[in-house]
Amino acid sequence: MLIVQKYGGSSVANAERVFNVARRILKAKEEGNDLVVVLSAQGKTTDGLIAKAKEINPKASRREMDMLLVTGEQQSVALMAMAINALGGRAISLNGVQVGIETTNNYSNARIRKIQTERIENELERGNVVLVTGFQGVNTLGDMTTLGRGGSDTSAVALAAALNADVCEIYTDVDGVYTADPRVVKDAQKLDEISYDEMLELASLGAKVLHCRSVEVAKKYNVKLSVLSSMTDAEGTQVKEECKMERMLISGVAADKNVSRISIIGVKDEPGKAFEVFALMAKEKVSVDIILQSTGRDGRQDISFTIGKDDLDIALKALEDSKERLTAEAIQHDDNVAKLSIVGAGMASNPGVAAMFFEAMYDAGVNIQMISTSEIKITVLISEEDIDTAMIAVHDKFKNVSVNMRKN
Ligand code: ASP
Ligand code: MG
Repeated sequence: MLIVQKYGGSSVANAERVFNVARRILKAKEEGNDLVVVLSAQGKTTDGLIAKAKEINPKASRREMDMLLVTGEQQSVALMAMAINALGGRAISLNGVQVGIETTNNYSNARIRKIQTERIENELERGNVVLVTGFQGVNTLGDMTTLGRGGSDTSAVALAAALNADVCEIYTDVDGVYTADPRVVKDAQKLDEISYDEMLELASLGAKVLHCRSVEVAKKYNVKLSVLSSMTDAEGTQVKEECKMERMLISGVAADKNVSRISIIGVKDEPGKAFEVFALMAKEKVSVDIILQSTGRDGRQDISFTIGKDDLDIALKALEDSKERLTAEAIQHDDNVAKLSIVGAGMASNPGVAAMFFEAMYDAGVNIQMISTSEIKITVLISEEDIDTAMIAVHDKFKNVSVNMRKN
């Protein structure tokens, strides 16, 4: 079998853990498999590098940031090769340029366009375990790029797709995907399996187990994906197209604290205002999430929306600069908010899910500021300090409700 494994930063945080992973890799190799292993930077290395850059130039260009950040993953693969060699195995480390992980040009948030497989295949043929830096690639200018925070998952899945690997195993410090954050919700359950679509929603809604784009790529190329712990031998969670019939009505509750709300108050109630607001945000490359427009009164209305916390300053500045053109009376913001979401493919065919969700929020005394829904999810915006209470209450409400999933 050709196996692509990925180990996250916590799994390779220090020498002891590097050796732990090296032994796991060698075990899989001894069982007769070919191994391509993607690594993240050790522990909090990436955060550390970002802090270093901030000390020197808080407005550093994205190109130079990428130049700096790619070094974290290079340390990991080189150290892992040394560990495997020390244990008597054979390994070689390669970075994104050496492999030929071709990406789009945009620094700090590049997308993989194509992966050259020749070098990796040659090294596998020579009997090497091939260690590949996660999170990085090379653009058409020959510059190194990164794929966005958490992007090593995407590197692994894309490699699995390009190499036509039999499986892609993502090793992390939890042993799978849970119905809620097990640190907050004590009786959260591990899922044996979850569909790509549900995982995609959960990942984009703040469940941090997998990089969102990795799930997109897995779905697109039908990559067999599992999420496992690097510390135990427990069975993990399989992410795949279809899931078994009997299961909890919702597949998970996710929280995202990286949210701010902006409200533009008293905008003239006339065509084009929403367009102007969101065109401004697009120009600043700020992605907008939940949007709410109040019904008009006295010819005026309010437009509220949520964005990531990191984008708040840029967004506010752009809006303040255009306040007159937008005919806004005031621009308010709150970064003390969080999103809570439930996700489940069974939702669409089961009426009453929304009522149960809102009842749980009411029972917990949590006030809802905004609501957004799709076929398989409901999201609410609430005060950040309510997030744990709300998550526990909602999980409690749904934990004993199972559903028979029928394909129609
Ligand atoms: N080291 C990078 C980060 O912290 C990429 C990753 O770990 O997936 O975001
Ligand atoms: Mg990660």
